[in-house]
Amino acid sequence: MIKFEKVNFTYQAGTPFASRALFDIDMEIKNGSYTAVIGHTGSGKSTLMQHLNGLVKPTEGSVTVDDIVIINDSKAKAIKPVRKKVGVVFQFPEAQLFEETVLKDVAFGPQNFGISEADATETAKEKLKLVGLPEELWERSPFELSGGQMRRVAIAGILAMNPEVLVLDEPTAGLDPKARIEMMELFESIHASGQTVVLVTHLMDDVANYADQVYLIEKGHVISSGNPHDVFQKVDFLKAHELGVPKATEFAVQLQKRGIEFKKLPITRAELVMVLSSMKNQENENGNGQSTSLRGGLLR
Ligand code: ADP
Ligand code: MG
Repeated sequence: MIKFEKVNFTYQAGTPFASRALFDIDMEIKNGSYTAVIGHTGSGKSTLMQHLNGLVKPTEGSVTVDDIVIINDSKAKAIKPVRKKVGVVFQFPEAQLFEETVLKDVAFGPQNFGISEADATETAKEKLKLVGLPEELWERSPFELSGGQMRRVAIAGILAMNPEVLVLDEPTAGLDPKARIEMMELFESIHASGQTVVLVTHLMDDVANYADQVYLIEKGHVISSGNPHDVFQKVDFLKAHELGVPKATEFAVQLQKRGIEFKKLPITRAELVMVLSSMKNQENENGNGQSTSLRGGLLR
């Protein structure tokens, strides 16, 4: 489990350029969970993600990963096991690539943790297949690839280390819809195999469809957290903070304005369909076409 306790973080602390990015963050990521982090650009999400594997250390407070406690003066050596446990795919993956070829790049991580070159190369091939990077690109320089392909290489490089926790900072930004769905399904299958996933995203539908826990970040503060079903009931709160809601929730809110009642707002398309079809069944059982004509009209 990963636990943040009163984490504060200031860039260039103690200099005239000091700028505070995180304020008293408390957060818990349970083993096997799928946690989404949402918030506007500049709210501190990437800074928060870099705390997950000790890439940056809290200015104040602590981050505990299983039995390792990271505080401001923790030494690199004490943090190294965390790097193996928690794999972070950065928001700008090109920053993460550096080897001559794609294959070498992906094989670098496991080799760095003591795996033989031959085994690391095997693992690299397996992960490149998994992320769907065509084989003819494996011997190319990673810097010749498109942005989307580079991101796949960076993800394969992290998966090759077989981390217990996979952290993805806006991994689907800029991908076309088909590639985005493929990638989200890949993360879902990784999660289903028991890995913990932490996803930074702008897309409320991805939160609704995949996550079991969500944190809303605003200006370096956690402003809400919980199960997506509960968090997305607070439509007015979310709108007041200029955060959207899933499409299904928005649709249900519009229906609500026309007099259709929902005990609980649906957050996914499947839930919306289920609630609406159960209403329609109810209506058929009642044999009443008059008073529910609006409902009937909308459902047909
Ligand atoms: P997000 O990922 O939510 O867009 P970031 O964590 O990147 O937010 O940024 C949070 C705040 O920290 C922003 O005000 C940003 O300008 C600032 N910031 C980010 N990186 C640095 C840095 N390397 N040095 C100084 N300030 C930074
Ligand atoms: Mg960011």
